[in-house]
Amino acid sequence: MAYIVDLRSDTVTKPTEAMKHAMVNSALGDDVYGEDPTVNALESKLAAMLGKQAALFVPSGTMANLIAIMVHCNKRGSEAFVGNLSHIYKYEQGGAAQVAGVLLSTIANKPDGTFDLAELESRFRGTDVHEPITSLVAVENTHNVCGGKVLPLKFLDDLSVICKRHNLPLHMDGARLFNACEYLKVEPSRVVRDCDSVSVCFSKGLSAPVGSAIVGSYHFIDQARRMRKLLGGGMRQAGVLAAAAIVALDEVVPKLKLDHKRANIMAKVIEGLFLKTFTIDVEGQHSNIILVRIPEHSSMTAEKVVARLAQVCLAETQGDCKTPNDEGVILKAIYFNSKTIRFTIHHDITDEDLWLAIMKITYVFKELDAAATKAH
Ligand SMILES: *Cc1c(COP(=O)(O)O)cnc(C)c1O
Repeated sequence: MAYIVDLRSDTVTKPTEAMKHAMVNSALGDDVYGEDPTVNALESKLAAMLGKQAALFVPSGTMANLIAIMVHCNKRGSEAFVGNLSHIYKYEQGGAAQVAGVLLSTIANKPDGTFDLAELESRFRGTDVHEPITSLVAVENTHNVCGGKVLPLKFLDDLSVICKRHNLPLHMDGARLFNACEYLKVEPSRVVRDCDSVSVCFSKGLSAPVGSAIVGSYHFIDQARRMRKLLGGGMRQAGVLAAAAIVALDEVVPKLKLDHKRANIMAKVIEGLFLKTFTIDVEGQHSNIILVRIPEHSSMTAEKVVARLAQVCLAETQGDCKTPNDEGVILKAIYFNSKTIRFTIHHDITDEDLWLAIMKITYVFKELDAAATKAH
């Protein structure tokens, strides 16, 4: 059996031993009655970390974002502004429209995950009878499709001034908020200071098996709790899950810096290959997500690369990509489009995994680069 290194996503992380222990041993109650002490402990802990009044544990990040949209955009005819590369717009089935009846209007994301603030402000509407009513602005931090980019604090500060001027709430999809804090070396409460609501995932790089949370004011969370019940997200003895999330905050958040360090090493090695077919932006390597781009004119496609990384040829097992048992490495990755490959470093990736992944990438990228440049 070949050795598998799975860099498809940080969602593939398994609960740690400490999490499993906590899951078995935590005090439980019925959380829909507000009586699960472990869920309550998680919610107060997270709210305190983010400097907000309250938090709500929910099954998924998708539900967290949807609930935030439903609470902020509770008037019919509402519109929410999101980046055109945001998770909310690309990967949540248009739940805002499908479930909440909210129009998502997109603003073009720049490569760094931000967008043009003057353009945003010029597009707010609602005074004219022909128009929907702009009711929310949402940002994503770190920004997944932009390659795990961390939004600059200056951008958030300037955006918040604009939102306040127009009396609009600001939501942060902080599925990877703690990665952003790690990069910026500031407290989460500073990063989300001017956000009216924040969603956070425990089941991504934080390694917990299930769960996300929404954070905001008491008033916001009261309404969010109603929406969670409406969407079928009211969980009973949810403390079994919240217990793992508490361990995630205590024990995995401080280790995110290792993921970032490993991602940096991988990015630098890929850059150091100096291949025409594969380019990487080491300067923009902020967190645990690594994007490798293929030039538009190249005959190579990301699909082919991802498929090749998942195969082992005989020469590899005899050459550079040996595992301890000489069986070769299967490297799992995903692609965003035909010219963009994504690798995600996470808690279950050891230094040995990193090393084997780098050997495999080096081998395959050189092979494919030689084939692609010869074809020209
Ligand atoms: C994964 C993710 C979500 C949604 O999380 P699920 O728990 O998979 O529903 C939301 N936003 C971003 C940026 C994500 O990466």
